[in-house]
Amino acid sequence: MLSTKSGYRYIADIFLPNRCALCGKVIVWDRLICTDCGNDLPETFEGSLAIGNTVFAVGVFYYEGNISKLIYGLKHGRAVFNFAELGAEMIAERLRKRGIADKIDIVTCVPMHRSKVIARGRDQAAVIAKFTADKLGKPTDLRLLRRSKDKTEQHKLSEKSERTAHAQAVYSAAKGHADISGKTVLICDDVITTGSTVSACAALLLSMGAEKVYAGSIAVSEYYKEYENKEYIEV
Ligand SMILES: [Zn+2]
Repeated sequence: MLSTKSGYRYIADIFLPNRCALCGKVIVWDRLICTDCGNDLPETFEGSLAIGNTVFAVGVFYYEGNISKLIYGLKHGRAVFNFAELGAEMIAERLRKRGIADKIDIVTCVPMHRSKVIARGRDQAAVIAKFTADKLGKPTDLRLLRRSKDKTEQHKLSEKSERTAHAQAVYSAAKGHADISGKTVLICDDVITTGSTVSACAALLLSMGAEKVYAGSIAVSEYYKEYENKEYIEV
C-alpha cells in the first residue's frame, strides 16, 4: 500500500517524530504521507521513457516546486526517508502495473564517488535503490558500477552531447563486481533529465552481461510534461 512504511527502516525513526513525506507534518508512525497529501498528490508522470540501452525507464514526480526541494533534501542531509520510500513504492507500483516487477533479478543504483558519499553522509540513489528493492522483494547489488572522481556535476552541463560524453567518461564497471550474466537489472536514480547518465550506466551493465536493464527514478524533468498523454516517450 502506498502510504504504509515497509520493514526497511532507519534507526533515526526511533528518535524522530514521523513526518509526512511531502509536507512535513507530524503523522502516525507507520504512515508515509498525511491524509491531506494522500488526497492531493502532486502531479505525477505516468508514462515510460525510452532511454537508450534500457528497455524503458519509469519516473514518478516532475522535478519542480516542492519535489525539487525534497530531492535536494534527499541529497544534502535533511532526513526525508519517507519521501524516498514513497518514491520507491511508486516506482515499484509502476513496474508491477507493466508486468515487469517479477522479472527484475537485481536492483542497483547510479553510483556516486566515495568521497562525495562521505562528504554528504548519504547516497540518495542508493537509498532509493534499497527502498525499491525492498518494495519489490528483490536483492540489491550496489557495487556493480563505480564513478570516477570528477568535480563536474552532470546537471550543470547543458548540452545533451556534453552530458553523454561526460557520463560515458565517469562511469565504469566496478572491479570484482558480481556476475550478472543473463540477469535483468533495475537501476535507480533520483532524477532523470536527458537520460544520459542512466543510458551510460545501462550500457555498462549490458556490457557486463546483463540481459536487460530497466530504470526507475523518483523524478523526471518537467520537460516530459508536454508528453504526459503518451505512454512511451523517446528521450
Ligand atoms: Zn502532508
